Amino acid sequence: MSEHSVTVLRLDSISSAEREEITVDLQDLLLARGVILPNDLRDALWQPSEWKPGPAAQMAVVEPVDWFDAFLDTANNGVDIRGDRDAYHPVENDEAPRCPHCAGAAPTTYTDSYGDWLEEWMTAGREPLFTCDRCGWSGLLGDWTGQFSVLIGAPAVTFLNWPPLSPAFTTDIRAALGDRTGIVASHW
Ligand SMILES: [Zn+2]
Repeated sequence: MSEHSVTVLRLDSISSAEREEITVDLQDLLLARGVILPNDLRDALWQPSEWKPGPAAQMAVVEPVDWFDAFLDTANNGVDIRGDRDAYHPVENDEAPRCPHCAGAAPTTYTDSYGDWLEEWMTAGREPLFTCDRCGWSGLLGDWTGQFSVLIGAPAVTFLNWPPLSPAFTTDIRAALGDRTGIVASHW
């Protein structure tokens, strides 16, 4: 069975104390709205996440979704909230982002030096900067347009196999994470 996930993450680095505070705030927000509940039947293969869909999970997704009831019965429909920095890869969705100014393709260095900039971002914390070949705009990778390129950051919240999240809900999560944020839609 193929699976998918959506991760919303904070891109800019902050102290571990700040990450912890935002992580707790985000959990409180999702719990207060009934979007998540503690997963009392955790299972490494079946239901590995700490959180599961709550009674108001439908409020978080785009309506109408005719497979919502089926989604509630999906084996892996949990929510992961992580305070530690990590890389989020789109896996089979992998696609270079586009220039937010002219919609031009990412420069060839994005693909050609992929392994190098990804490792440097992960180990040294330097988010790569790319310049658009078409219009000359320069920006950090997280400021390029797209949901299908790898991003690194923390805190992050991942919705596993959920229906598409509503734009308003996504905006609220981004506000809770604060500052620059990104989205990675994965498929595997
Ligand atoms: Zn451009």
